[in-house]
Amino acid sequence: MTKLIGLYPGTFDPLTMGHVDIVERAVKLVDELVIGVAINRDKGPLFTLEERVTMVEQEMARISKASGVPIKVAPFEILLMQFAEEIEANIIIRGLRAVSDFEYEYQMVGMNQALNDDIETVFLMADARYQSIASRLVKEIARLGGGIDSFVPSHVAMQLKAKFARQ
Ligand code: ADP
Repeated sequence: MTKLIGLYPGTFDPLTMGHVDIVERAVKLVDELVIGVAINRDKGPLFTLEERVTMVEQEMARISKASGVPIKVAPFEILLMQFAEEIEANIIIRGLRAVSDFEYEYQMVGMNQALNDDIETVFLMADARYQSIASRLVKEIARLGGGIDSFVPSHVAMQLKAKFARQ
């Protein structure tokens, strides 16, 4: 049997409990998981690439240990399908939230299939408690001084508070 390598790409600006929940589900499906942290200059990330990679790594160590599935964290700036081919991923994992995610993801899958039809995209839904969490909203709440502790891992909450305390 071929080894199943999953690629879960995202901006992770910052990592939320929604992302964590998707990873905890993804490790049940693959032999190895790579979290691809997109540089994503267009989105003007709050956290640097290094900060995002480090925050994802901190959380992945725990999940990898608990599941026994190796998890690598790798930044990437090339086309997603090119990156998937480079790391020999067979499946791309994406999280699906509300209807709003669907339109974008639908188009992405169509384009990606045209580029490489051997790599399947699998959509997972987070636990109901985490479905409405979005990095964009978490940043907005943190910027305005609201409580974000239930939306992100504790080390991320600390970094968010530190980021906005400096501004
Ligand atoms: P991107 O810029 O690729 O959308 P994100 O970091 O925002 O990067 O999201 C990465 C992936 O995780 C996407 O597939 C997104 O739909 C999914 N995701 C983010 N938050 C949640 C959540 N609360 N529940 C389920 N999936 C989520």
